[in-house]
Amino acid sequence: MTAVRYGLGDTGPAIAEIRTKLTLLGLLDDTAPGPSTFDHDVEHAVRQFQQERGLTVTGVVDTTTYRVLDEARWRLGDRLLSYVVANPQAGDDVLALQRRLCELGFDVGQVDGVFGARTGEAVRELQRNVGLTPDGTCGPSTFKALDRLAPIVTGGRPDSLRASEALRRAGKRLSGKVVVIDPGHGGDDSGNVGNGLDEATVVEDLATRIEGRLAATGVQTYLTRGPGSDTELDEHERARFANETGANLVVSLHVDAHHNPIASGVATFYYGGNRPGTTSAIGEQFAGLIQREIVARTDLVDCRTHPKTWDLLRHTSMAAVRIELGYITNESDAARLADAEFRDVVAEAIVVAVQRVYLPSGEDAPTGVLHLQDLAEA
Ligand SMILES: [Zn+2]
Repeated sequence: MTAVRYGLGDTGPAIAEIRTKLTLLGLLDDTAPGPSTFDHDVEHAVRQFQQERGLTVTGVVDTTTYRVLDEARWRLGDRLLSYVVANPQAGDDVLALQRRLCELGFDVGQVDGVFGARTGEAVRELQRNVGLTPDGTCGPSTFKALDRLAPIVTGGRPDSLRASEALRRAGKRLSGKVVVIDPGHGGDDSGNVGNGLDEATVVEDLATRIEGRLAATGVQTYLTRGPGSDTELDEHERARFANETGANLVVSLHVDAHHNPIASGVATFYYGGNRPGTTSAIGEQFAGLIQREIVARTDLVDCRTHPKTWDLLRHTSMAAVRIELGYITNESDAARLADAEFRDVVAEAIVVAVQRVYLPSGEDAPTGVLHLQDLAEA
């Protein structure tokens, strides 16, 4: 898909289409045939939509917003749903299907609105249970069965309970775990720049420091791109890579920027939106641990953790987090980022957070005191 970017003042058929979609979602009240200008009302509606969906709120329809806007039109039953390996179906109907399967006690993995292999398996399982041909395709008879069945799981979050249980069963040893480290940007895309630094180089170096430490604890580590690699990967390609490795966790590394040089601090993001039942429980926990460890060991400002539906977080089938480690445009954040010792401290914080994910609560040592030697013996 070619890059999309529509904003204030743009006109044409694409804008008319965007207005129609926003109207269908009740965010705009155009009467047909509507105007075809991207005005302040559209901008406001787009912001509201981005806020609701956990996207970055810009008021601009970029490629991701455009796609999510398109996904929002589907209602359960509008189309056949099945697992398409090369290009998985995504939309609000898939999300509704996953929620329903979850209530019925089937394991769909993350409720993310993407019809992946596990959703397909859950559909087969349902079909076997109700005596339908287990072909994994949701058509009229499967929709009917979904309507008919009463939920067997009430209260709580069956998906997060299942995720926590899987985590507990995985054991607390780091050895045998697989972690994907994803240094953002690369190739011709150097990411954010400022104070003589560029984001791509900083996160590349940090990634190799994390990789070395994880390897020492027995974790198998994959990098989405090596230092100095000249390939540009989009978020989908990075997610696909992570899924292919069968990783337990994904850590994506970025450095933020702002036109105001005062903006500073570290924030960590996990999969989740404002719609109920869509948050990755393990992702949220992992993000919280990373944020805590980094804040405890450095003097970066704590910009907290936040749910987002960014592509890498959504299309990965395991818990994934994205760290925005300081602002490259802030003089003192940049000075820290330039310091090799600081990068080592952050790398250690991240490795300790990885271990803490697997430590059953109660055995969890207080933040900031666990060292790598302890982990190797755990
Ligand atoms: Zn970045």
